[in-house]
Amino acid sequence: MKRDAMLAALADKQAAWDLLIIGGGATGLGCAVDAAARGYRTLLVEQSDFAKATSSRSTKLIHGGVRYLQQGNVGLVLEALRERGLLTQNAPHLVSHLSFIVPNYTWWEAPFYGVGLKLYDLLAGKLGLGPSRHLSREETLQRLPTLEPEGLRGGIIYFDGQFDDARLAVCLAQTAAALGGVLANYAQVTSLVKQKDLIRGAVIRDLETNVEHEVTARAVINATGVFTDRLRQMDDPEARKIISPSQGVHIVLDRSFLPGESAIMVPRTDDGRVLFAIPWHGRLLVGTTDTAVPRAELEPRPLREEIDFLLTHAARYLTKDPGPDDVLSAFAGLRPLVKRTDNRDTASTPRDHSVMVSKSGLISITGGKWTTYRKMAQDAVDQAAQVAGLEERPCATENLRLHGGLEASASLPTLTKEDPAWKNLLHPKLPYRLSDVVTSVREEMARTVEDVLSRRTRALLLDARASIEAAQVVAELMAEELGRGKEWVQSQVTAYRELAAGYLIQ
Ligand SMILES: Cc1cc2nc3c(=O)[nH]c(=O)nc-3n(C[C@H](O)[C@H](O)[C@H](O)COP(=O)(O)OP(=O)(O)OC[C@H]3O[C@@H](n4cnc5c(N)ncnc54)[C@H](O)[C@@H]3O)c2cc1C
Repeated sequence: MKRDAMLAALADKQAAWDLLIIGGGATGLGCAVDAAARGYRTLLVEQSDFAKATSSRSTKLIHGGVRYLQQGNVGLVLEALRERGLLTQNAPHLVSHLSFIVPNYTWWEAPFYGVGLKLYDLLAGKLGLGPSRHLSREETLQRLPTLEPEGLRGGIIYFDGQFDDARLAVCLAQTAAALGGVLANYAQVTSLVKQKDLIRGAVIRDLETNVEHEVTARAVINATGVFTDRLRQMDDPEARKIISPSQGVHIVLDRSFLPGESAIMVPRTDDGRVLFAIPWHGRLLVGTTDTAVPRAELEPRPLREEIDFLLTHAARYLTKDPGPDDVLSAFAGLRPLVKRTDNRDTASTPRDHSVMVSKSGLISITGGKWTTYRKMAQDAVDQAAQVAGLEERPCATENLRLHGGLEASASLPTLTKEDPAWKNLLHPKLPYRLSDVVTSVREEMARTVEDVLSRRTRALLLDARASIEAAQVVAELMAEELGRGKEWVQSQVTAYRELAAGYLIQ
């Protein structure tokens, strides 16, 4: 994937796109894969980097959502479990199985959650990842040696999927590109173009050069997550707001707080939230919170009370109490929750998805979650094809093997032939090599130091301080690859340090 070639295709005045997709998160990228796989001429634009917003800030689970079962939303769980199975099948290099243990401290938890998780197994059917079962107190402590033993009665073990969200996003972009789609990051839709009150395209600004391009498309899909209302109001200033963003924060701790192979799942903290402590990339991810916020932002910041909540609750379940100094990184994401509405066309339950078509034909796809991105895309592209009167072609993603991963990128031996120093680690505390920076630029459209350290690698989330220390080396190597000068290096390092400071607890 080369951005220059993508921009040239985007700027081609002769190009007539079947579909323009706005937004390069899970939903938009899923739409691009779906549309390109059906053979539609597909263009996707993302105003920042792929997965910059919510899609790189999730809990990293491919799951049916045990919580939704508690809410009685069986249909949603069933759909998500099916999607979990399909994704495991289509991207085995990106989804792994993880065991979760619900620790039991009161007499009623074992039967109550035990029955719920049996139902979860049942709903997964033959796409299940393994049966749930009760664990004795000893077995629980064997699997979770640092779990708080006082008052512990036992646990229930069950299985779900785990992934790296930003990596899956890049993999979807590569898949769509391999199918003939054109995708550009740092390309923002600044206005929609209409003809006789019907949407016929958009004006797109290349944010690297500030040059604007007008593109024509038979249908336009708005897949902008928490920014959905901005696009809807670009289309119709009178459009009612339908998104209420809710912030979720995670903290990252050293793995010594929870060694072993299993995660902890607390279905209900005393204020009714779900808490996860999950091994991820050699660290421990603890989350999350649910805080209503007034507006959508690209770089939301964790509140101190959210971090305190996570530290206090982690301390309840772990023998070693984590404190603020133990937090390697703290990050926030915004859930694009769809407000409940009485309008039957748009009715939706929270975290479910809905497709809406405006009077001028703008197709907005909202809600959902990473796990269900494929189904969301299928529904949105079906709708878009109908609105635009495109030739009917069936969805082809159910068994589509996703691209990306190691098999698709230049191998380490090939790169180190070019420069043996590229096998060196970026930083002693980070599991990445200089060669990863080169691959990110050459094959994954990384354009900034942040793209490399936050999303092509996950250095920012694994250890924000170490990632700041690595920024200079990354900037210099990127400058060589991209043909940039000293000034660029300096401004990139400064911008990255400012950004990453927001992931440290001050
Ligand atoms: C804390 C938290 C934990 C979660 N955990 C999980 C989990 O474990 N498993 C799971 O399945 N789901 C999880 N989710 C849900 C999942 O992350 C989201 O549903 C999903 O990432 C939303 O993707 P999206 O593409 O709709 O939105 P986004 O990722 O926000 O993408 C929208 C994109 O549109 C772009 N955009 C906006 N305006 C424009 C414009 N004018 N021009 C061009 N581009 C534009 C934005 O820059 C953005 O990148 C979690 C969510 C949160 C917040």
